[in-house]
Amino acid sequence: MTRNLPPKVSAAAFDRALAAWRSIVGEPQVVTSAAALAAYLDPFAPGEREAFSASAALLPASVDEIRAVLRIANQFRIPLWTVSTGRNFAYGGAAPRLPGSVVLDLQRMNRIIEVNETLAYALVEPGVSYFDLYAHLRDKGYQLWVDPPAAGWGSVVGNTLERGFGYTAYGDHAAAQCGMEVVLANGDVLRTGMGGIEIGTAWQLYRPGYGPSFDAMFMQSNYGIVTKLGVWLMPAPPAYLLGEIQFRHEADLEAIVDILRPLRLDETIRNQAVVEGGLRRAAGLSARQQWYEGKGAMPENAVAAMLDKLNVGRWNLHFALYGTPELIDARYAIVQRAFARVPQAKFSAARYAGDAQPTAGGDRNMAGIPAMSAFRMLDWRGGAGAHVDFAPVCPATGRDALRQYTMVKTRAAEYGFDYYGGFTAGVRHLHHIFAAIFDRDDADQVEQAGALLRSLMSDARAAGYGEYRAHLAYMDFAAAQYSFNDGALLRLSETIKDALDPNGILAPGKQGIWPAAWRDRRGYT
Ligand code: ADP
Repeated sequence: MTRNLPPKVSAAAFDRALAAWRSIVGEPQVVTSAAALAAYLDPFAPGEREAFSASAALLPASVDEIRAVLRIANQFRIPLWTVSTGRNFAYGGAAPRLPGSVVLDLQRMNRIIEVNETLAYALVEPGVSYFDLYAHLRDKGYQLWVDPPAAGWGSVVGNTLERGFGYTAYGDHAAAQCGMEVVLANGDVLRTGMGGIEIGTAWQLYRPGYGPSFDAMFMQSNYGIVTKLGVWLMPAPPAYLLGEIQFRHEADLEAIVDILRPLRLDETIRNQAVVEGGLRRAAGLSARQQWYEGKGAMPENAVAAMLDKLNVGRWNLHFALYGTPELIDARYAIVQRAFARVPQAKFSAARYAGDAQPTAGGDRNMAGIPAMSAFRMLDWRGGAGAHVDFAPVCPATGRDALRQYTMVKTRAAEYGFDYYGGFTAGVRHLHHIFAAIFDRDDADQVEQAGALLRSLMSDARAAGYGEYRAHLAYMDFAAAQYSFNDGALLRLSETIKDALDPNGILAPGKQGIWPAAWRDRRGYT
């Protein structure tokens, strides 16, 4: 096998850079063997896994080591791709956008620096996972909740920077972030907002600080390496209710969203409720082959029979109510009244108080308990299960939700995929997430998954929708869709990129932002 080198770097120069990095982070923390680098390939690649392969990985242990690593990268013009825990599955895992980049893996920097119970926040390093933070809060008896995303093993920093989301009242992770420490490409270290005050008292309390506010600039960008991040935590409520409402008809989606929106706007429902498609719900309870063994998307009658047998709705609304028992009762009565307008809506609810917790199921996320519910889908289709996600932002109106659903379902069926998806309710928008599930060992399915994703993105664009996040393979495509005034937004992003990172060493191509040195690499791979 030929050796994978950083682009435009000779083997001899790369060896010199590696030697310098070994002296900075220590021999074992420089990964170069093909076997070990396999961990940095995208496990769910909708195409050749090697298309986005790293030439090496470095695991620094401190900010000072990161700064020293950057000096070498600048000297040799070697691009670095930062990951926190590298579990950005369905969007590329730990793999870099520009093949041959060196992965800067921050998993060893995994300290929970501070938890403040009074002011309800934590300050963490990149290697801290949701499981870690949750365990820490439980061990120490803090009355605070984390807000886990669908897969709890990922990091708070990585997920927040990608604007991931969860399912409690703190489900909008970008909004619950406050204060960052960032290393810039030139090695400068800054703290955002109130972190600029050297003996600070409010870094995690007031995001703006004084003057321009930069936290958002380091999300879904390639402007810096985030080494500390503040996150607001939800005070554990005295009690909560986890509710499910099942709906029988496909077209109910319109009414569900139109009823849910006002309840989110007036905060009757404070959490990021989920309108889960029937098939996704069913996949948590069974495998596809139980219901259908043919090729292509599962036909309507098989889906209907499956939902019936499993006692699952065509749509299933999952929500939580938090607070004192009186408040919960009052809110639940309002929710029931509102959704009773939908014929054949079926209600169920479980109540918890004090330390009581649900023991199983995806709804544990709504109780602030990290789980791996995102992974149950992998067994749905059989074989080496993988998925790639299409994630358009949907206005929180029934009309838009039904339109997106119909568009995606129809297109998915054309390429032989089931509609495995749902909507997570922000306040004025919904995150519509559709997963194209495929067997990685089936070359045809892999190819079709990639083709489907491209079609879906074009469909969305034509209808005026855009994606909130995209796999490495589609980052340029997704960015190009934000094309107002001949791409003024991306022009600004690249102007900033060139100012901050003139050698183009930090994550070239991330979110479609290419530094001058690599701009010719834009496009499909
Ligand atoms: P997860 O928390 O799911 O494991 P990753 O570590 O894979 O997430 O991070 C997701 C993406 O976020 C990375 O591909 C990278 O682009 C960006 N990212 C992650 N951590 C950092 C960081 N500390 N600084 C800058 N960008 C980061």
